[in-house]
Amino acid sequence: MPTAIIIGGGPAGLTAAYELQQRTDIRPIVLELGDDVGGISRTIEYQGNRIDIGGHRFFSKSNRVMDWWLNLLPIQKTDEASQSITYQQKSTTIDAGEGPDPNEVDDVMLVRPRQSRIYYRRKFFNYPISLSANTIMNLGPVTMAKMGMSYMYSQMRPTQPETNLEHFLVNRFGRELYLTFFKDYTEKVWGVPCNEISAEWGAQRIKGLSVAKAIKSALAKPFRSSGDLRQKGVETSLIERFLYPKFGPGQMWRKCAAEVEAKGGEVLYRRRVESLRVEGDKIVELTARNLENDTLETYSGDYFFSTMPIQHLLRGLQTDVPSNVREASEGLVYRDFVTVGMLLNELKIRDPKTPDKKYPADTWLYIQEPDVHVGRLQIFNNWSPWMVADPKTVWIGLEYFCNQGDAIWNRSNDEMIKLGREELARIGIIDADQMLDATVIRVPKTYPAYFGTYDQFPLIRGWLDQFSNLFPLGRNGMHRYNNQDHSMLTAMTAVDNLVAGRNNKDNIWDVNTEQEYHEEQEDAKAEAKPESQSETKAEALTSV
Ligand SMILES: Cc1cc2nc3c(=O)[nH]c(=O)nc-3n(C[C@H](O)[C@H](O)[C@H](O)COP(=O)(O)OP(=O)(O)OC[C@H]3O[C@@H](n4cnc5c(N)ncnc54)[C@H](O)[C@@H]3O)c2cc1C
Repeated sequence: MPTAIIIGGGPAGLTAAYELQQRTDIRPIVLELGDDVGGISRTIEYQGNRIDIGGHRFFSKSNRVMDWWLNLLPIQKTDEASQSITYQQKSTTIDAGEGPDPNEVDDVMLVRPRQSRIYYRRKFFNYPISLSANTIMNLGPVTMAKMGMSYMYSQMRPTQPETNLEHFLVNRFGRELYLTFFKDYTEKVWGVPCNEISAEWGAQRIKGLSVAKAIKSALAKPFRSSGDLRQKGVETSLIERFLYPKFGPGQMWRKCAAEVEAKGGEVLYRRRVESLRVEGDKIVELTARNLENDTLETYSGDYFFSTMPIQHLLRGLQTDVPSNVREASEGLVYRDFVTVGMLLNELKIRDPKTPDKKYPADTWLYIQEPDVHVGRLQIFNNWSPWMVADPKTVWIGLEYFCNQGDAIWNRSNDEMIKLGREELARIGIIDADQMLDATVIRVPKTYPAYFGTYDQFPLIRGWLDQFSNLFPLGRNGMHRYNNQDHSMLTAMTAVDNLVAGRNNKDNIWDVNTEQEYHEEQEDAKAEAKPESQSETKAEALTSV
């Protein structure tokens, strides 16, 4: 029986394993570095509370991905008389009572409303930033007028060529709006000035958003319906409802791993892939360190799928790597991430409409305050009530974007908790004495950066493509700013190619660039149907 060795048990690796079993006779063996599956999309448990690293909304413009998720975890029954979602280009109505009840069943996908606001100048701004009374009141008429004028100027005299993210943002939003909402936060996230980040990042993540759309959206709002869960045609950062596994994203990937094992595949933990042996244009075997007993193990296979960071893959390939390819790979930059999970009696911030509730309705808040390091705040109670052990407590995640080895990363856990507690108290989000417990999680390589040697990436891709049975997949595996859906689609497309006997890998590399084009074509076909029209609203560019 042919074998596929899959490096990494995150969304891309497990999707590859699952798809191989569904559609081929190839047996997958997944080698995972950590002691759990899910990769960045795993759920970590601490004293019965669950942390989602980053807060993972499950949504996709791809029907294939939506079907795949709902096949593993069916959608919950809802209180509404009927729940309309567009499904396989058709509008489908799920009757109340049809899906599982999350109070009774664990394997279930929740439907969650999204509320996320920006916390800036100790005030809340709607997210996406819109031309609302809230924005006008918070900013004041003078700032608004300045923003309007600088927007008009940017439309009359856009910077060309648009080579970096600053150009991209100023051309679409005007300098004043850029300086107020985008510059500081984006630099907090990436740790470098916007003019050192490729414009491609903006094109990929925030393509299609503009002030013109915001105005159009504000005018169109009264005429929209809100039942479309599939939300095709909605810009990526605008989705307003999303799916979420009852116990966080890791539940999806544990379920998937269990299915893979049940069908005869293997998922092996604490295996660090260190080297790959090459013969001609093929990989023939790889070596992994078993971290349980510090021994080396060899796995031979017919196909090799890699979701480990592409830089590490190149370091492990036992063949002469051309110097320009090596330099391009070594120059790739990553951004890392520290989360402080904090348990509290209550938050100081409340919704005016529900003053007795101990926290506001936001799933997360963007912290744009320049005087603190914390970048985002997750309120896990709002993601899923089942993320929190004691519903009388509030369970939050403070997110710090950093670089491995920098002052944030190197802080001890105690220092990190002290920092988080002090910062949230300083900006008025908590009272420091309300903290009950806290924990710290460090996650390396959360963001593949579009700077460093990223512009030389085609050299790496071109060279790797010579290995006919090697498939770099996913987020760090392809150095792409992919969400789960695009990471999964790269794996699905690789298996499509095996099934079709297609050797060219362009369609795998094109996921998340060409994909949008195909989705737009599908949207155009479906446009006649009112159900497929979903909400479009421009939002701030802070989405990460
Ligand atoms: C803050 C944040 C928020 C996000 N929000 C969302 C969201 O709302 N919705 C969404 O869909 N996506 C979101 N994402 C993106 C999502 O996390 C990723 O797209 C997804 O996890 C990528 O899957 P992957 O399998 O490609 O990679 P990963 O999740 O990185 O998995 C790779 C796996 O490979 C393993 N590995 C690495 N090196 C080796 C080695 N040498 N040997 C063996 N194993 C190895 C790792 O341990 C890991 O388990 C977010 C990401 C972040 C950082």
